[in-house]
Amino acid sequence: MANADPAAHVRRREQTKGRDLSYPPLPEPLVVGVYDNHTHLEIADGENSIDFREHLDRASSVGVRGVIQVGGDLETSRWSAETALHEPRMLAAVAIHPNETPAYDAAGTLDDAIAEIDELASRPRVVAVGETGLDFFRTGPEGRAAQYRSFEAHIEIAKRHNLALQIHDRDAHAEVIATLLRVGAPERTVFHCFSGDAEMARICTENGWYMSFAGTVTFKSAGDLREALAVAPRQLLLAETDAPFLTPEPFRGRPNAPYLLPHTLRAMAAHLETDVSLLAAQIASNTELVYGRWDAEPVTAPHDLPRGDAGPVGGLA
Ligand SMILES: [Zn+2]
Repeated sequence: MANADPAAHVRRREQTKGRDLSYPPLPEPLVVGVYDNHTHLEIADGENSIDFREHLDRASSVGVRGVIQVGGDLETSRWSAETALHEPRMLAAVAIHPNETPAYDAAGTLDDAIAEIDELASRPRVVAVGETGLDFFRTGPEGRAAQYRSFEAHIEIAKRHNLALQIHDRDAHAEVIATLLRVGAPERTVFHCFSGDAEMARICTENGWYMSFAGTVTFKSAGDLREALAVAPRQLLLAETDAPFLTPEPFRGRPNAPYLLPHTLRAMAAHLETDVSLLAAQIASNTELVYGRWDAEPVTAPHDLPRGDAGPVGGLA
């Protein structure tokens, strides 16, 4: 889909005062490569914005072989689908984010937006529907009916296209689980930025749902999350950055990027008392089972993506 405004997809992270806006240094490279199965390279952060290709170059240099670029509204979903078509290290996920849903609903455009997500879901290198789900933290009771309607429509799209489902679940564990059980979950269902406890990990395990751990698993306060990690079967583990958010320790608060995933992986391996290369190999294998291989569908030449106009560039947002 042609975009009239080449920068329509660019989002800039809301800044809080006093935050350190410098990107952390490159970590020691992983010996066995992994994938970041949830990132937002269209959201500019940091003192100098970084083009998505530079993000991917940095990631490659430390063993993060590829990413799933996740859209959250129509513009970013279009950009994700279009960019993945030309970039071998990127696959795409498309959806209307649960916190964007109420605005589409209020404007009377939610059904049209979901119809376009359905169309984008049929594109090459679009491997997941997400992020979709329920968020009772940012959206109040008045937005919940629209969130449920949108979540159920996204589940249906994922099943019809045989794509993975990436779930955003914030303060809505019971309701998300109940919805999946009521309407039937897609074959490959992923809790992005898994935030449950050991009990929820058991429910996911019973249902064969994947748990994707983000930088939050490195936070001091995240004891419940580490207990969940400890009881989750290794074959249901995934790893992600959710960049530019949720930067792992020891750089919490600074801008996040796919190249920082090794910190999360090393913290997971340390907690599981396993070798980081063995864990990386298992997670890479799980990731390919969920989304397919990054080279399964060939990329095409980027005829309409001149460098500098495509990524988040300072001053555009
Ligand atoms: Zn996200």
